Parts: sequence; C-alpha cells; structure tokens
Amino acid sequence: MRPRKLRLAHLPTPIAEVTRLREIIGCRVWVKRDDMTGGPEAGNKIRKLEYLLADAVDLRAKVVVTCGALQSNHARATAVLAARLGLRAKLFLRLRHGESLPAKATGNHFVDRLVGADISTVTPEEYRDRGTIMADAASELERRGERAYVIPEGGSNGLGALGYVDAMSEIAEQGRLGLCPRSFDHVFFACGSGGTAAGIALGVAKTGLAGRVHAACVCDDAEYFETAVRRIVPETQSFDTDLASLSSRPPIAFDDREKGPSYGVMSKEQRALVVRVARETGLLLDPVYTGKAMSTLAAQVRRGEVKPDANVLFIHTGGLPGLLAESAAFEGEL
Ligand SMILES: *Cc1c(COP(=O)(O)O)cnc(C)c1O
Repeated sequence: MRPRKLRLAHLPTPIAEVTRLREIIGCRVWVKRDDMTGGPEAGNKIRKLEYLLADAVDLRAKVVVTCGALQSNHARATAVLAARLGLRAKLFLRLRHGESLPAKATGNHFVDRLVGADISTVTPEEYRDRGTIMADAASELERRGERAYVIPEGGSNGLGALGYVDAMSEIAEQGRLGLCPRSFDHVFFACGSGGTAAGIALGVAKTGLAGRVHAACVCDDAEYFETAVRRIVPETQSFDTDLASLSSRPPIAFDDREKGPSYGVMSKEQRALVVRVARETGLLLDPVYTGKAMSTLAAQVRRGEVKPDANVLFIHTGGLPGLLAESAAFEGEL
C-alpha cells in the first residue's frame, strides 16, 4: 500500500513557458514553479515532507530531528512545518570551515529561529557523522519521554522521494489539460542530496514525461550522486507497486561541470546569469541550487548537447531565503 501523505503544499504548482528565457538560454524552457509550493515553507522539500511528516505523526513523534547547512532550505521547511503541526524541531546546522554563528541570523537561519527551532551547530568534520549525531539526539529525547523522528539530510530517503514521483504525475496531468507539452525532450533540476533526482527519475520512467533527465550537481561530483540515487531508488520502489516493475536504474545524467567553486559559492559568470534572468524574466534563482541548475542547462545548450529546437522542462525548486542571505556576494554584479 502506498504510504499516506499530509496535504501541506499548495498543489498543483503553476507551469508555464518563460518565453524570454529562449533569448538567454537558447532553447524553449517551461518552468515548473515548485518555488511556489507554499508560503515560508516553499520549495521542493515540502513535497518530501508531506510523506515524512505523515510518518512522524503516525508514529506519534513530538520532535522532528534533521540537519543541513546553516542556510539549509530543508531545515527551514521542516522547522516551519513542525511549528504548523504543533511539533518541535531539532536542527543540526553545519558551519563552514572556521565560520562561527553569525551575530545576526539571516535568510533560512533567521526563519528557523523565528519559528522556535532548537538549533545546534556542527563543524564540517562533525557533519560527516550526521547520521550518528541525529540518532544520538533522538535517543536522548526518547530517554526524556519525547518521541523523536529523524529525517535525513534533504529529506532524501525512499519515502521522501515519493513526493517527486507525484510531481511528475502532476506535470503529466497539466500536459493533458493543455497547460504545457505532454512530453519534453529534457528535464533539468538541481541535485543536492539526491532525493529529488530519485523521485524525478522514477516519475519520468513511470509517465514518459521527458526524453532525458539531467541532475545538476551543486556540490559533490557525479559519482557521489550516482551512488546516493542508486541507494534511494529501490527504497522508493518498495513503497509503490506501480514503481516496483520499473528498472531500479532509471536513466539519469548527472552533470557536475557547473557545480562552481564550492557549495553555495558561484562563479562570476554564474552570478551574472542569475542577475540577467532576474532582470529579463522576473524569475529569481538562488546561488546554491537553481542558479547552478540554470547555468548547467545554459552550458549544455552552448556545447550543443541540448539542441536549439529542444523543449526543456526546468524544475524551479525554490531557495529564495538563501538568495536573500547572500546579497553581499551579488553587490559587484548589480
Ligand atoms: C534541497 C534543494 C535542492 C536539491 O534537492 P535534493 O533532493 O536535496 O537533491 C534543489 N533546490 C533547492 C532550492 C533546494 O533547497
């Protein structure tokens, strides 16, 4: 039986061709507005959290424990939704090397604090053991009589990824209604922990929505994500008999050539693209995820890997609070 999900997101999200992107990118681009899945909790994580938080509620958890970078969109979405559901949120947030907690919270971190999340910071070294850190925190909470539910980084496990299988069915339905093409040559999106990629790959295999699936790696290299997604996919298939008959290796191309200098840091050219897209289309991309996904698409068109007559589906996964927290990095480009 397919797991239950809570109705937390505003669905279906809009989909439309952004005609002026053709000038900038060099092919036709339809944008799925998953940056509009909600209010302050918006972005791609809410689709996963609809399943994960249903599981937490069914297990009578009182606290949800999760992790991410200091400006994690996933941690913020979890904290806001926990507040909405009357749960507490315990967050382990990773600082950069040598970084200390900023005196003034900004962006996602500010929202985490506003909604009352319990925040512990961890170093990059400690973060490698995030699974153990979260399991220990959950045991400690249980000892105090509070049932805890651990959500992995990015909400990226088999259960969470079902949210993006559903998203592909949602777009296929929008195609049947005439709101977008019934199928696309390519789909592009940002890949940070792999759950979205696993869900999209399975959803595309199920619906035939796109010819090729491209995951734009934003931090680690293609090999890392191939391994991560290969682990998530069979777990997702185990929850749904329709998915069980599909290949456990649905086709997906991981492109790490535009991952930029490091996690959350863009090259000057990438920042220029974010600024140009904002000015000419009104679409706001973020420096961690969607900006790098768009520059991956632009680079593939430039290299002739995506043809000028292709129809491309771009999944806008959100990230606005992270952009607002990075205003200083863009000063030179404005
Ligand atoms: C988390 C996130 C992604 C990546 O999704 P994963 O499932 O973690 O790979 C992409 N875009 C935004 C804005 C995100 O917050």
